[in-house]
Amino acid sequence: MKEKMITGITPSGEMTLGNYLGAIKRAVEFQDEYELYVFIANLHAITIPQDKEILRKNTKEIAALYFACGLDPQKSTVFLQSDVLEHAQLGWILNTQSSIGELSRMTQFKDKSSKTKAQSKDYIPAGLFTYPTLMAADILMYDAKFVPVGIDQKQHVELTRDLAIRVNNKYGTVFQIPEPLISKDKIKIMDLQDPTKKMSKSSTNQKAIIYMLDEPKVIEAKIKAAITDSENLIKYDPKNKPGVANLMTIYTTLKKITIKEAEKHWQGKNYKDLKDDVAAALIETLAPIQQRYKQLYNSSEVEQWLKDAAIKAQYEARKKLNKVQNALGLNYNRK
Ligand code: ATP
Ligand code: MG
Repeated sequence: MKEKMITGITPSGEMTLGNYLGAIKRAVEFQDEYELYVFIANLHAITIPQDKEILRKNTKEIAALYFACGLDPQKSTVFLQSDVLEHAQLGWILNTQSSIGELSRMTQFKDKSSKTKAQSKDYIPAGLFTYPTLMAADILMYDAKFVPVGIDQKQHVELTRDLAIRVNNKYGTVFQIPEPLISKDKIKIMDLQDPTKKMSKSSTNQKAIIYMLDEPKVIEAKIKAAITDSENLIKYDPKNKPGVANLMTIYTTLKKITIKEAEKHWQGKNYKDLKDDVAAALIETLAPIQQRYKQLYNSSEVEQWLKDAAIKAQYEARKKLNKVQNALGLNYNRK
């Protein structure tokens, strides 16, 4: 039997290059080897205020993009999180098993709550604080052994492991212990305007982000305007030259070459050459995905695929939730 694997994306904005290279591309590559579950995390999206029409639009776009990137509905279970009610129920149960101390240590919470404050919103949603417990439910629900995530989510998968071990020790084994699957090169695509920050779809500076649906002209302009430094020397040094290093990471990941090979390729060249190469590589990779996306977005196929997958996921989720509820005494008669 194949091991299970799960990954998700929050429809909190338009899909970025970071999402693609950090998670989706790898999930697509794993489809044959693993039993893959992929969900659109709309319950996570509402941990920060969302306009309902924009949320729906982002959800539709991300769904069509998932399939356009190569997820195959015949092989993988691709569904909408809110279609499987058990996620929220198990999320609540895991919430009760977590501590304020451990949730306070999540760096994503620190980042996102400080952003919320900076945008002078008048409150920090409690959901932003507790969402790692819902994420734990998403993962533990399907006995996923592996979770392909970007390095920014590693801490949450570690918390998931802690919660699973805690519940298993307290109530008897109900959960499989998952592992984060981070690519060997641990790629983290950085913001083009502030390369010390990761590229995030919920960030407000559009110029700083390559979206999967950006047109060639837009890609060229964004890469041209990407922050580098004044040295004009192409060298991989993320600490001192984060902007240049980020462009190099994008290029080498797209072209499947090593940093050493790239440095050799750019020997004696300048930042204009570097940027031209990066933009061309991006356009080449994104064009076929965008073409497929357009066909899918205007068809009814995607909705049907999501519905079929939700039915399959519901069946699995119900089995797991029954087991957990029984273990915790959440039923009138022990089963
Ligand atoms: P948000 O700003 O709403 O958190 P996000 O861009 O961080 O959006 P998520 O939906 O949180 O995207 O994450 C989807 C997947 O993409 C996760 O597996 C995450 O690890 C990965 N990911 C997100 N940003 C990057 C990045 N800059 N580089 C590599 N992987 C990333
Ligand atoms: Mg994120």
